[in-house]
Amino acid sequence: MQTKLPEQLIKTPQGQKADDILRSCVHCGFCLATCPTYQLLGNELDSPRGRIYLIKSALENNEFSQNSIQHLDRCLTCRACETTCPSGVEYSQLIEIGRELVEKKRPLWQKMARTSIRKLLTSPVLFNLLGSVAKHSSIQTSSKVQQGQNKGRLLLLTGCVQPTLTPNTNHATKNVLATLGYEVIETPQKECCGAIDQHNSAHNDALIKIKHNIDQWSNLLESGVDSIISTASGCGVMVKDYPTLFEPDDAYYQKAVSVASQTKDIAEFLLDQDLSTLSPVKEKISYHAPCSLQHGQKLPNLVEGLLEKLGYELMPITDAHLCCGSAGTYSIFQPKISKQLRDNKLEHLTQSQPNLIVTSNIGCQIHLAKGTDLPIKHWIELLDS
Ligand code: SF4
Ligand code: SF4
Repeated sequence: MQTKLPEQLIKTPQGQKADDILRSCVHCGFCLATCPTYQLLGNELDSPRGRIYLIKSALENNEFSQNSIQHLDRCLTCRACETTCPSGVEYSQLIEIGRELVEKKRPLWQKMARTSIRKLLTSPVLFNLLGSVAKHSSIQTSSKVQQGQNKGRLLLLTGCVQPTLTPNTNHATKNVLATLGYEVIETPQKECCGAIDQHNSAHNDALIKIKHNIDQWSNLLESGVDSIISTASGCGVMVKDYPTLFEPDDAYYQKAVSVASQTKDIAEFLLDQDLSTLSPVKEKISYHAPCSLQHGQKLPNLVEGLLEKLGYELMPITDAHLCCGSAGTYSIFQPKISKQLRDNKLEHLTQSQPNLIVTSNIGCQIHLAKGTDLPIKHWIELLDS
């Protein structure tokens, strides 16, 4: 795609990055077929290609209408378009640049609503007060977590909302890792990965959290922690993307690369382990693959493969590549589209009449649970019997 971004803008790192991404798009339109919002709304401006044009025009002409804001707001950042794109367009980085432009034009009431939700979700004290009402699961095994001994030390990313809403995910993870012989230390709940701020255009707030995390976790890696384990794929993809937030000459860049390269989704970690000491609960399950795992972390079929290795029989899920509509705070700000995507997803997940749905991300778990009476769990809970 040809571009004519103002020279002054091209001279900035962000302008250069936007220009490079825009030029890599060849307008082929392959991405339209896998974009959930284009599938639902049928409008080119609600497709990846349409949004790329909107951002290009905003950068070239410094113009952004209220209509454009709406089309960008409707993007789930599911990154299905990145998986499909044959030209490797880094759409998720471009939409972040677009969102920064949007933020400057957003009406005040919208800014205030977004800031309040963001602050609530990332403030453990406040969230624990309100979140306990919406608690989804409780700790289900009575066993106290036994610390493992010989095999190594792991840092478990606790998550900022997971300890309140789905505490059994971290509890089960610690039990499984201890059974396999690992010592587990946890991040404090206040150490949010920064995704909620970053995806709501609060880049400065996100950077404060991210730099703090990089400092803390680098120290732990240097003092003998082998890997950083994530059980929420939405947090995992954010941490793996840390290096994209720094220029190569930034003092944080190398440390961000090191933290990102040693971060693993729990399924990635378990894939290399001998799991014969575990006794998975045998249930008829359906697995929902979060976008943050299959498109964001580029790990399609990871959990499916692991579950099959553990003896589960998984039925193919129609449109498994499509988002369930959770997408961070999307379900709060775009409730209609979000619900439609959730209803479609649940219809496909329940086709084989499972008695349990499992997934790899707390956002999907909580969102899907609002539309069905079936239990929705993190799959790691199956291994903690
Ligand atoms: S598939 Fe990639 S190159 Fe083709 S229009 Fe979409 S973003 Fe552009
Ligand atoms: S990130 Fe998802 S919703 Fe947004 S343009 Fe790409 S495919 Fe569509």
